[in-house]
Amino acid sequence: MNRFYLSIRWKLVFTYLLLIILTLGLMLNFVLSFLEKSQVEDHKNYLFTEANIISNQLIVEFENLNLSYTRSYYADVVGNFSKEVGSRVIAVNPSNEVLIDAFSEYAYGHYLNNSELNEALSGKPSHGIYEFDTFGKVMYVAVPVEKQGEILGAVMLASSLEDIYISIGNLKKQFLFLAMISIIFTGVVSFIFVEILSSPIEKLTEKVNHVAFGTQEINIKPEGNDEIKVLSNSFETMLFKLNQVDTQRKQLVADVSHELRTPLTSIKLLSASLLGDDNTDPKIYKEFLTDIDSEIDRLNGIIDSLLYLFDLEKDETVLNFSNSTLNSLALKVISLLKPLANQKDIRIDLQAEQNVWADFDREKMHQCLSNLIANAIKYNRVGGEIIVQILEVGNHAKIRVIDNGYGIDEEALPLIFERFYRADKARNRETGGTGLGLSIVQQIVHLHGGHVKVKSVINQGTTFEIEFPKERT
Ligand code: ADP
Repeated sequence: MNRFYLSIRWKLVFTYLLLIILTLGLMLNFVLSFLEKSQVEDHKNYLFTEANIISNQLIVEFENLNLSYTRSYYADVVGNFSKEVGSRVIAVNPSNEVLIDAFSEYAYGHYLNNSELNEALSGKPSHGIYEFDTFGKVMYVAVPVEKQGEILGAVMLASSLEDIYISIGNLKKQFLFLAMISIIFTGVVSFIFVEILSSPIEKLTEKVNHVAFGTQEINIKPEGNDEIKVLSNSFETMLFKLNQVDTQRKQLVADVSHELRTPLTSIKLLSASLLGDDNTDPKIYKEFLTDIDSEIDRLNGIIDSLLYLFDLEKDETVLNFSNSTLNSLALKVISLLKPLANQKDIRIDLQAEQNVWADFDREKMHQCLSNLIANAIKYNRVGGEIIVQILEVGNHAKIRVIDNGYGIDEEALPLIFERFYRADKARNRETGGTGLGLSIVQQIVHLHGGHVKVKSVINQGTTFEIEFPKERT
């Protein structure tokens, strides 16, 4: 089917029309059948009343109606009455023979076999509706003519119901005409209404398509003030985030390629120079191979750190929480890094007034503290000093790593947690950093529901502070 007719616009218009047609149809049916029934009932009651009146008038001389002069007198009475009530009046004797017929169709003594008259002659008033080709619907009402319990005969009134059906038919036509107008009106109004409703959706779809196919900047410009605007806002946010993710992805690929290329270029240069000279001194050979080895270590270091960071950034990263003391963790990290610190004659002190218990992932927090203390050693002079403080503030645990090393430039401070960022490129090459250590620290602390702060004065030293809730909520 044509897409146009499958659109929300047509579905709504058709629904409205269907509803109004159904409602009007049911109403028409109910109202007209109610009217018909009540009018026919009223007419029946009216005919019964009139039949009883004429029966009472005839009762006086009913037994003498076989006498022609009495009959002719009453024939006039019945004729006038018949005109008055607009119905044919027939009186019969107990043998069903006609005594008087207001329309003079049946002669005196004509035998009638009519079920309503039969019933009336058995003492029960009766009525019935018949349909004739020539007269349409006719109602028969018959009542007995009774004198002191004896049935002298019966009187029947026959009245056309056509007036009732004609008036109901006219009403039906008027109703149908009004129904047509209201259907057309509903159709037009609902079309305008759904047009107002669907046009922002179409505009939004068009804009989203433009953005999706890259022909337009992310600029949905939400319109109106209803749900469509909320939807447009959500689209804009979603597209903005998608764009951000895409930019970050491109940036990451560029950064990683760049980072990997540096050691690879060194390896290539070193190996090329070895291959290009057939008489290389074995000492030089060894020296170059040692350099190649350390560049490979560097490459491995970058790849390991990157994979570790990607792992931490996964949405489903689950920490392995356990309740333990930060003091024991710090002691362990310090003891492992002691040999590195000793190479530069750096002293590491642990300061803690008490044992600080907290819920944390021991392996991850170990990595975190290890990165901070390793940095404090790397970016420190020979004979420098490092203090590791463990504190408890309210329901938070704190670890500070304070060094009196090179410090970080004020402008570089906000950037040091970014991937691959190095504050001092020249020094960094010597220290062999990957630029990923602090990103890992920050990610681990965030996963613990905490944050990292840094204070630094160039050439005086740096303090990193980690803070996170002691108890998991
Ligand atoms: P890297 O592997 O280069 O050490 P990090 O992410 O750990 O990467 O650190 C980012 C940069 O922040 C480092 O290159 C260094 O310039 C700076 N930095 C980190 N810790 C310290 C510190 N304690 N003292 C001075 N500079 C530091």
